[in-house]
Amino acid sequence: MILYNNQFIEREDAWIDIEDRGYQFGDGVYEVIRVYHGQCFAMDEHLDRLKRSAREIKLEWPVSRKELEENIRQLIQKNQLNNGIVYLQITRGPAKRTHQFPMQAKSVLTAYTSEMDRPHNNLQNGINTILADDIRWLRCDIKSLNLLGNVLAKEEAHHQQCYEAILHRQDIVTEGSSSNVFIVRNGKLYTHPANHFILNGITRRYVIRYAKEAKIEVIEKAVPIEEMMQADEVFITSTTSEISPVVKVDHNVIGEGRPGAVTTLLQKKFEEEISQLASR
Ligand code: PMP
Repeated sequence: MILYNNQFIEREDAWIDIEDRGYQFGDGVYEVIRVYHGQCFAMDEHLDRLKRSAREIKLEWPVSRKELEENIRQLIQKNQLNNGIVYLQITRGPAKRTHQFPMQAKSVLTAYTSEMDRPHNNLQNGINTILADDIRWLRCDIKSLNLLGNVLAKEEAHHQQCYEAILHRQDIVTEGSSSNVFIVRNGKLYTHPANHFILNGITRRYVIRYAKEAKIEVIEKAVPIEEMMQADEVFITSTTSEISPVVKVDHNVIGEGRPGAVTTLLQKKFEEEISQLASR
């Protein structure tokens, strides 16, 4: 089953207009919510961010928030999803093609679920990454459907047998193609400030909270590539990658080439948080 506005329908029966603005312009916003043990992780934060993204592009919110929350829960139940994701998007809807907003477009909300295992191997052994030029627009804080800059960077990473591309504007590290980037140096945690150059990740926010709880100083500042290369530890965070240690950037080995102590501590806190969902 999938969710189409307020209706549950079979995926085969879903119908998207070829002039839907999401399809033609990438005119829409989305979220990916993690499901552990049949329960949404951080649903509130994701829906708040979706609402913010929608507002920033002046997109009409098509359904009530309460109804949407309930529909997402039902979708998970109907599809008997245990571990996986809910993908949720809102487009500005179908209308005759013009760049400016059409007079009578009606937003279209769709959501589906997909099974997905946790990235055990990456979590334990770390990932290899490449550096890639951040060629995206200047509102990366909006989780919009326009992902070509991200897609091209991720494709290049995969082409080089790497898991993620770490993006940079000139010599400043911004974020991953689909993740946030953290650096550990001398026991302190650094990450790019949540401004227009990055998406303020939900996992990022949890990690900052865990670090503060563990009395690790968190410094939100722009980090130059050179500092990242010499860091004791680097890791990326995202809904699907969780807290994945980075052991290599291009041909440069990070720290001792294996997950570091701070990363492991934060992973442990995250693990505790999601195991609580099992008892709900
Ligand atoms: N930055 C970008 C560009 C992303 O696509 C993602 C994945 N949604 C993130 C950061 C991490 O965000 P979150 O932790 O909310 O998944």
